[in-house]
Amino acid sequence: MKPQKRGLPKNRIVPERKMYFRPEVTHCPDCGTKLKRHHNASNKIVATLEGIIEVWNMAYHCPDPVCGKPKRYFRSVQADALCLKHTSYAYDVLALVGEMRFKQHMTVTEISKALKERGIPTSERHAMRLYEWYLTLLRASLTADVKEQLEDVVKEYNGLLLSMDGVQPEKGNETLYVVREGFSGRILAAKNLKSGSKTELMALLRPVKDLGFPVIGLVSDGQQSLRLAMGETWPNTPYQYCQYHYLKDIAKPVVDLDRKLKTGLKKSLRGLREIEKQVEDDDSIESEVTRDYLAATRSLLLEDGNPPLDLPGIQIYEKASAVKASLEKSVAKKGGPSS
Ligand SMILES: [Zn+2]
Repeated sequence: MKPQKRGLPKNRIVPERKMYFRPEVTHCPDCGTKLKRHHNASNKIVATLEGIIEVWNMAYHCPDPVCGKPKRYFRSVQADALCLKHTSYAYDVLALVGEMRFKQHMTVTEISKALKERGIPTSERHAMRLYEWYLTLLRASLTADVKEQLEDVVKEYNGLLLSMDGVQPEKGNETLYVVREGFSGRILAAKNLKSGSKTELMALLRPVKDLGFPVIGLVSDGQQSLRLAMGETWPNTPYQYCQYHYLKDIAKPVVDLDRKLKTGLKKSLRGLREIEKQVEDDDSIESEVTRDYLAATRSLLLEDGNPPLDLPGIQIYEKASAVKASLEKSVAKKGGPSS
């Protein structure tokens, strides 16, 4: 069943692909039961420097009635970490805007134009807001209010779930690092760093560590210094790669190849209409069977999968092979000419 598109922003951003995220926490922190999918927590269109994506976040919960927390939901921290709350722009866009304003001293008009050239739908007003969000982000710190919220998170989830990501909008420039608590969605620290060495990153994490709260999970992208910095700061906490970055890195060549396969398969199935015409007004059993096969084959072509995990080209190929095998079987049974 096709999910409904909701919450499309008014500026009509059209997503290039969908990504589904599951929570990083897989088992109940209280009783250890495997979490079960409960509902779609959110569906959001996010503009990134690498394209527009539709992000689906699935909410899971502990199904054990004895445990007694059926309304405590877990969702993907990484999916939420792609962009600031209530915005549709990923951090890499924000970082780029900051760089264009601070380093290149561009005006809002120039920034808005540059973003459009990179495929980011925006207006001058949006560019201005992006710049304001960027400044707000850099001001993030561990205020009393944040600490209070983290205390609540620890009570509810038995610990914090921390994520740290680095976004570098232009090669060779500074990288914007963002530290986030996943259950609350609070930004705990954000800073532009030139080298992003393990030592620098550990210094960024230090104030969070000093709060002394238990940490039940760590999430970051594949960058080694990030992984080392988090791992050394919380040595006994399980660590997870970011699904988004991981998929993005491996997905591109595979998705490109699959697109070619799908195009080729569609071409080879172009003769369908001709056969459909031939059996159109025929009431014989043979024609009826043929029509069934044609319908099955035609529906294959509508397959669009969910790349990179479900590749449409591969799906069409596999199903077409199944149709072919079944067709050959029935021809053999009838004793007709083999293929
Ligand atoms: Zn439980």
